[in-house]
Amino acid sequence: MNDSKMITVTSPLLPDLKEFYNSLEKIWDSKWLTNNGSFHQRLEKALAEYLGVEYISLFTNGTLPLITALQALGLTKGEVITTPYSFVATTHSIWWNGLTPVFVDVDPNTGNIDPEKIEAAITEDTVAIMPVHVYGQPCDHERIEAIAKKHNLKVIYDAAHAFGVCKNGESVLKWGDISTLSFHATKVYGTIEGGAIVCRSREMKTKIDNLRNFGIVDEVSVAYPGINGKMDEARAAFGLLNLKQVDAAISKRKQVAERYRKELTGVDGVTFLQEETNIRYNYGYFPIFVNEEKYGISRDALYVKLKENNILGRRYFYPLISTFEPYRTYFSAAPSNLPIATKMAEEVLCLPIHHALSNEEVSRIVDIVRKIK
Ligand SMILES: *Cc1c(COP(=O)(O)O)cnc(C)c1O
Repeated sequence: MNDSKMITVTSPLLPDLKEFYNSLEKIWDSKWLTNNGSFHQRLEKALAEYLGVEYISLFTNGTLPLITALQALGLTKGEVITTPYSFVATTHSIWWNGLTPVFVDVDPNTGNIDPEKIEAAITEDTVAIMPVHVYGQPCDHERIEAIAKKHNLKVIYDAAHAFGVCKNGESVLKWGDISTLSFHATKVYGTIEGGAIVCRSREMKTKIDNLRNFGIVDEVSVAYPGINGKMDEARAAFGLLNLKQVDAAISKRKQVAERYRKELTGVDGVTFLQEETNIRYNYGYFPIFVNEEKYGISRDALYVKLKENNILGRRYFYPLISTFEPYRTYFSAAPSNLPIATKMAEEVLCLPIHHALSNEEVSRIVDIVRKIK
């Protein structure tokens, strides 16, 4: 173990502390701590503008939006087609609604659900498709939504990685029936814990806002068995301040991604996902894929070697969700049904990427991956 500073895969975006104190003073003065207060309202408005969407509802984390999205669309029975190559919350949200997850393999070029394989997984019980824009790579939404239309299915995008991502100038959050975001501290944009739902109509936003607050419609009526998903004023204030610096953070991330691309191109046995020119990325992750035969050592050996040098890569997304205890016995969870996702999970290593990473730190990482050190 060397004594250099620990480098983590990401680092939270933190607002200026004095500015945060000022916001807290305002909250103390108002004595309004939660339940759609003024910071909450301002953050919803500011995010709608920043993201280029019309209807957004803030939540206390990024998992309740997934659970609530299924509720809002009235999906309480049947099967939901999804990807095994994601954070476990995606599949958990299906389970929490009493629905059955059905895993479909991914496209090796993006890591996203492969539209070619969706139709074969549709049965008379299928009610929705829940894809993930993994690493902020936009899904093939045109094909996914054509299939959904043909079979009368809802589409909920888990856009936890896609904050600010646009394709051909349009926010990916406008796709499908509903998209959900996470503002967890480890994400590109954070409110400590937090999240949101983006939807298509005023009526749907009202329903989602009600579901977020126990299903309460007014003082004397409860329309749905809702949940408590409300964001508080302190975190909304934190989020408002972070919104001012998220563009600068994304620019810094972009510089890191460009250096990795430049310096790791041509390393035998190391590949990465290709970028397209019509997409605005947020550079939330930098996954590399390590082919043991060509690289000489396994992904896990490289992971350990980095760790020995105080560099913490993360194996997102290994193990696959479909291999975890609650889901491994599902018919669709068989590794033979998911060969591409299985291979990606075995080869992937996300390298450190964040706004505070120095050039010297990137050099240390690159040197190890290139086996110079
Ligand atoms: C982070 C994440 C979530 C959950 O968000 P939380 O804010 O941690 O609840 C859901 N899906 C994906 C793909 C994620 O990465």
